[in-house]
Amino acid sequence: MTAASQDVVLYEVQGPLALITLHRPEYHNAQNSQMTYALDAALRRAVDDDAVKVIVLRGAGKHFSAGHDIGSPGRDVDQSFERVGLWPDHVGKPGGEFQFVREQEVYLGMCRRWREIPKPTIAMVQGACIAGGLMLAWVCDLIVASDDAFFSDPVVRMGIPGVEYFAHAHELNPRIAKEFLFLGERMSAERAWQMGMVNKVVPRDVLEDVTLDMARRIAQMPRMGLALTKQALNNAEDLMGKRATMDMVFGLHHFAHVHNELVSGDKLGGYDAKAMAGAQRKTEA
Ligand code: ZN
Repeated sequence: MTAASQDVVLYEVQGPLALITLHRPEYHNAQNSQMTYALDAALRRAVDDDAVKVIVLRGAGKHFSAGHDIGSPGRDVDQSFERVGLWPDHVGKPGGEFQFVREQEVYLGMCRRWREIPKPTIAMVQGACIAGGLMLAWVCDLIVASDDAFFSDPVVRMGIPGVEYFAHAHELNPRIAKEFLFLGERMSAERAWQMGMVNKVVPRDVLEDVTLDMARRIAQMPRMGLALTKQALNNAEDLMGKRATMDMVFGLHHFAHVHNELVSGDKLGGYDAKAMAGAQRKTEA
């Protein structure tokens, strides 16, 4: 099976639940554009199905998601896709426009769309939830993690102030967010739970049962009640500055990409997935 023909997102309905599975387990569910567009389509399908009350997002294999694809053979940053937002195609754009336009669409734009889905969403997280993986967990309303799950955003190593969907200061308190970003180290599921970033931590072997049980109980609530409650809390977060913070940091993020390009000739400061993992091992050793 080639990377292009493989189903990189799986969709399944179980009663009132839609189960959406990131499915590139051989690359720890690294997100290429093929995956983000497939995920967008799967979420739209769940929204359009009135029988679906709650959406569960999970990752196939050992890890939830190792982040954006910065090194697999299926990396597709130079390809055009049928876009879901109204930013133009990034392909062929000069200078910083290429990255800015692409990330407006596939990262910031899509993540915001997904956060605003008018149905409850639950991220079921095991193993690694790194950088772009955090974005997928954070856009969900609830996060249930297994006790072996860990969270990190190591992109400061690339000279970049956190991933594109900058919710760090709202998911964690700002001092802990600074520690999380300055060090780029793994935060355990237990610590994430203490910080209120995760709703529940359970043993790996019951992760699915506990998550689906929670989803089924939520599904007993009325659809409109759930949609309005979600909107109330999302709006409260935005009134606390979440959306404005994200817009401001998106500018800093793109200054960093362009600065990297000027200084090193590479938007990611010369790091690919392998170099990031190597550097990480050295610090954490
Ligand atoms: Zn970026």
